[in-house]
Amino acid sequence: TPPEIIRNFCVIAHIDHGKSTLADRMLQATGVVEQRDMRAQYLDRMDIERERGITIKSQAVRMPWEVDGTAYALNMIDTPGHVDFTYEVSRSLAACEGALLLVDAAQGIEAQTLANLYLAMENDLAIIPVLNKIDLPAAQPEKYAEELANLVGGDPADVLLVSGKTGVGVEALLDRIVAEIPAPVGVADAPARAMIFDSVYDSYRGVVTYVRVVDGALTPRQRIQMMSTRASHELLEIGVISPEPTPTRGLGIGEVGYLITGVKDVRQSKVGDTVTDLAKPATTSLGGYEDPKPMVFSGLYPLDGSDYPVLRDALDKLKLNDAALVYEPETSAALGFGFRCGFLGLLHLEITRDRLEREFNLDLISTAPNVVYDVTLEDGKEVQVTNPSEFPTGGKVAQVCEPMVAATILAPSDFVGAIMELCQARRGQLQGMDYLSEDRVELRYRLPLAEIVFDFFDQLKSRTRGYASLDWKADGDEAADLVKVDILLQGEQVDAFSAITHRDKAYAYGVMMTAKLRQLIPRQQFEVPIQAAIGSRIIARENIRAIRKDVLAKCYGGDITRKRKLLEKQKEGKKRMKMVGRVEVPQEAFIAALSSD
Ligand code: GDP
Ligand code: MG
Repeated sequence: TPPEIIRNFCVIAHIDHGKSTLADRMLQATGVVEQRDMRAQYLDRMDIERERGITIKSQAVRMPWEVDGTAYALNMIDTPGHVDFTYEVSRSLAACEGALLLVDAAQGIEAQTLANLYLAMENDLAIIPVLNKIDLPAAQPEKYAEELANLVGGDPADVLLVSGKTGVGVEALLDRIVAEIPAPVGVADAPARAMIFDSVYDSYRGVVTYVRVVDGALTPRQRIQMMSTRASHELLEIGVISPEPTPTRGLGIGEVGYLITGVKDVRQSKVGDTVTDLAKPATTSLGGYEDPKPMVFSGLYPLDGSDYPVLRDALDKLKLNDAALVYEPETSAALGFGFRCGFLGLLHLEITRDRLEREFNLDLISTAPNVVYDVTLEDGKEVQVTNPSEFPTGGKVAQVCEPMVAATILAPSDFVGAIMELCQARRGQLQGMDYLSEDRVELRYRLPLAEIVFDFFDQLKSRTRGYASLDWKADGDEAADLVKVDILLQGEQVDAFSAITHRDKAYAYGVMMTAKLRQLIPRQQFEVPIQAAIGSRIIARENIRAIRKDVLAKCYGGDITRKRKLLEKQKEGKKRMKMVGRVEVPQEAFIAALSSD
């Protein structure tokens, strides 16, 4: 396919503004998917994506479209909208010359609209502003067309009005893509260079790698080389997705498609890497992407200890398809054998856990998630702490740094006070504030990741009656006064409950956790103190009073059956008990205490 008739574009938007639905309509309008084969969110191929109504993996699909007698090939790349998957968005953008910036006509610009727009601008993409959902009675096309035009520059009249639901405006949109998005340029007789923008493990075909050719061409049976590792492979198959994978005789400049080499692990076909020709290799690779960095860690333990090998295999399998997932074995006195896993964010954690439980039939406990801390010891040594119970104790710690984020919050101006109050309570530093229009304001804060990653978004939503939107990205590290709070049962530390908190919040955590455990742990034959401590200093304490004698004492003399029943029952319960020192703790208590409320 000659590059002049190719258009590569992506659709970027705040979550739920209708990317996947609009993509469906474009697939239909171009005849790629026939009416009878159509199903909602056609490109969201994973069950979990369809159930949750969110896009996790990027998708690339080729669509024919004719303008003035010329047949064009449009390559659309659908991207995920959630912050956890921003790294997927940025790599998709790098494979395109243009972007449709989609905004819900009843909502207006939101935080991820901005974040995605900035990413697109950094990649020098042509931007077509589009208002979607104009069929909604609550749509305000004039108001938001103006907002959008102000943002991207240009005339409100140039903002396209479409509905992914009814299909209105979709053909005009396809014409605009041909007219306004530049054709790809590259050097035809240069050594082949193709950028890997996604890599997916498929149990039948091995790794399917999505590429965008920049220079030269790739053809079947060619020997290719991965520029970062120098590993070489034979191209077993190469083709385009339209809407199913279709082999072709090769891919030329600007073309987007897939290739299969028979490798079994997505790490061997790394996103961001450059594919070249082994016989005639390119000298410089295309600018790569940063490796996704895990931001949130949690311990995953099988409820049934004998499932440990199943969990290990399951993680190995998921890893084949998820370069962002990291894990290593860990043992917990309270929970047994498990893995410390790193995730991009809470949604990534949730989805991974969900998949492990469903696809591999596992029952899991996950420990309270935490961020990564960089600890400098008195002797100058530095350690990275991903598990709070491994936080160095005693007077050895010189400095603790925690990850920070740059957060952008968009909301109606009425809520500025409420938002500032929340951010202040979360140790935020205000960096700036802008009015996007009369009644909509953008607030920029620098905040510790640990303060926003867990329940911040819910808090923000409830304080703004659902109107605020949030986006954030990593923004370095900062030293803070952080301490480890341990929870002790009868003097024994329970590793799964250790937490790292800001010194000002340590007391609250200690009180909350000891009170929770007092409710959850049944009375024992002896008194059990529950304590929260920073080092050797106790900051909170609860007591579980002794019980056994009293229970039996109540069943006086003759009633031997009742006594036996009671003892039976106690034995039954013990099966699912974990011992912490001399204290028996039902597994349910751990689960309940670890689940956030
Ligand atoms: P995405 O998160 O950007 O991919 O958004 P989706 O395509 O999943 O759409 C989010 C929600 O908006 C879904 O409930 C859609 O049915 C709905 N939706 C999408 N486009 C339209 C539209 O043009 N009109 C109306 N009324 N609803 C839409
Ligand atoms: Mg979607």
